[in-house]
Amino acid sequence: MNNAPHRPYVMIVGTGGTIASSGSGTVDYHNYKVSSTVEQILSSVPEVGRLAELVTDQPVNVDSFRIDNASLLKIARSVEAAAADPEIDAVVVTHGTDTLEETAFFLHLVIRTAKPIIVVGAMRPAGSLSADGPLNLYNALVVATSEAAWGKGVLVVANNHVYGARDLVKRDTSAIAAIEGSKYGVIAEICGDEVHFAHTPARPHTLDSEFVLSSIQQLPVVDIMFDHQGAGQHLYQASVAAGSKAIVVAGMGNGSLSAGARQGAFLAHQAGIPFIRSSRTGQGIVAPLNSDAEFGIITGGSLTPQKARILAALAIASGKKSDEMQSIFDRY
Ligand code: ASP
Repeated sequence: MNNAPHRPYVMIVGTGGTIASSGSGTVDYHNYKVSSTVEQILSSVPEVGRLAELVTDQPVNVDSFRIDNASLLKIARSVEAAAADPEIDAVVVTHGTDTLEETAFFLHLVIRTAKPIIVVGAMRPAGSLSADGPLNLYNALVVATSEAAWGKGVLVVANNHVYGARDLVKRDTSAIAAIEGSKYGVIAEICGDEVHFAHTPARPHTLDSEFVLSSIQQLPVVDIMFDHQGAGQHLYQASVAAGSKAIVVAGMGNGSLSAGARQGAFLAHQAGIPFIRSSRTGQGIVAPLNSDAEFGIITGGSLTPQKARILAALAIASGKKSDEMQSIFDRY
């Protein structure tokens, strides 16, 4: 009987992003383009071969600000197929950091597996001075091959830290520490080839999620409105007229609405589409208000506007009705 430890098989799903980009030189940190396939990224970090046998897939190869609903589903289907493969022990997704939080949260809600699913990006392009991608990728493999990462849902690795997919945010335009966990998100730390978990995600995800990717053909349009002093109602009129299936408002403070945004809530209510109050502050819980009842306004809890949009789109695509939305936001 061979007692050698099982050498993990890890699927690397490449999607593009800065981690796969290169600029005009080693100190060009902004004018770069996606230039490498996932295979090329891996060949530039041979150390990952120490940790696992690797197979790859490349559903898209774009900057993450170019990912749309169709490409998000394509990425999710690639991850789901890998997770369902009995030969695969874990999945790592290389991804741009601009919308990494949206993809990670979507995968967190739809991939039915206990296997580690790790999303990883970089703030500096490959090959640049002090590029962060190689170590982030190596650390993603450290976490992906760790027993402790099983059952934790989708995780994000950056700068030796591990974040939960529900609560990580990109908080800076270009700082190396742009990815952080808001109030809740750092759940583990990587030290050498070890990952030390301190927390476990509290809300349902992956196997405990009610959402089924195979039942989703397409995701609906859900708009996000950034509220501010003196906002008008015209963007809400346009959104409803364009047929969006829900509106998320990044409200002021506790999701407070300007007069224009409140009129937008009325228009959404009239059109029978969910209107979700989130907050432009980027963290904290949006508390329910007595005034929500008038137009059936839903509170987005502690989800950022961009994540509230993901949950709303997924819920609608899954056939959930407006009167189910508040319980969904309370649950996830
Ligand atoms: N600047 C982004 C990144 O850091 C570009 C992208 O999201 O694709 O990956």
